[in-house]
Amino acid sequence: MTKLKTNSVNSIKPGISDVLKDTFGRAHNYLRISLTERCNLRCTYCMPADGVQLSSKSHIMTYEEIYSIAKEFVKHGVTKIRLTGGEPLIRKDVSLILEKLASLPVQLTMTTNGVIADQFIKDFKKYGVKTLNVSLDSLDATKNKVITRRSYFEKVYQNIILLVNEGVNVKVNCVLMKGVNDDEIISFIKLSKELPIQVRFIEFMPFDGNKWNMKKLVSLEEVLSKVNEYYKESDVIKEADAFNDTTKSYRIKGYKGTFAIISSVTNPFCDGCNRIRLTANGRIKNCLFSSEESDLLTPLRSGESITDIIKKSIRSKRKIRNGMDTLEAFNKPDQHLKNRSMITIGG
Ligand code: SAM
Ligand code: SF4
Repeated sequence: MTKLKTNSVNSIKPGISDVLKDTFGRAHNYLRISLTERCNLRCTYCMPADGVQLSSKSHIMTYEEIYSIAKEFVKHGVTKIRLTGGEPLIRKDVSLILEKLASLPVQLTMTTNGVIADQFIKDFKKYGVKTLNVSLDSLDATKNKVITRRSYFEKVYQNIILLVNEGVNVKVNCVLMKGVNDDEIISFIKLSKELPIQVRFIEFMPFDGNKWNMKKLVSLEEVLSKVNEYYKESDVIKEADAFNDTTKSYRIKGYKGTFAIISSVTNPFCDGCNRIRLTANGRIKNCLFSSEESDLLTPLRSGESITDIIKKSIRSKRKIRNGMDTLEAFNKPDQHLKNRSMITIGG
């Protein structure tokens, strides 16, 4: 059995209270908030073709509730908040949410499919959103339509250029799937020749209804081998990665931008994990691979304290991928396919 290597234990950051520390010494100062379970795309790797069971509107956090919960996390040491979804920008009150969260002492950021990003440039500037992750899985309009089940390639591509021109630091997220878009790795990297962006290749992960199997996965090693086949070894420069980074980053000599790989399956980065997720219906998940959730919204609505629930959830976090500490564990579907579809978690 291939036991996965882990690095040294994450050091506790000053200013983080015990509430956000787990039993392995990891400090969770990065909160990812899903604003909605809905989306204007239907990506095959993210959700089943026939959609997902949506929470009723009354079970989705209001902007005041999002703010209250975020404030509680910030009080205990959260310094970075990412808004995600579903598609965060389709939520009607997204500007109000940005405004409220921008009043907290945090780095505010967002993951979006970019389809309507052009309508929010002013808001991004006003509320200090300096970095955006924009998903784009193919540079071919037809293929992009097959992957997203919608026709917005041109719009997203143009919006990426627009955001860059407006001074936003853009990271392009691309989920690689064998036989689907793995022939575009070099084309994606070439985007970083003239654009100061980071292209991030994400290993395809299993979630409920996304027909995942290991054979569809394009691993970190496979990406690097394609890169090394195409570029001279001396032109592929390893960039420094911060301890909490999920990416392994590289730059091609002379290129303005970089490329990186997120290898959650073949090379987990759990030792440096500082993330906690809040779903749109107000539940926290202590690990992307865990199907366990802790409800914060119901107690918040009844006026109860949510501090101990947060603390308990973080203290129950497992060391590696909710216990899937080998690659072989991915061959046991009951260990991961019970997990919500990504669209309702907030990636
Ligand atoms: N709608 C926004 C978007 O697409 O960027 C935000 C939500 S989406 C769930 C967040 C990220 O999760 C995206 O970058 C998407 O590519 C990634 N993602 C979704 N399903 C995935 C999967 N099965 N494996 C790896 N990444 C996935
Ligand atoms: Fe929507 Fe993002 Fe999921 Fe695609 S990856 S279906 S854009 S939430």
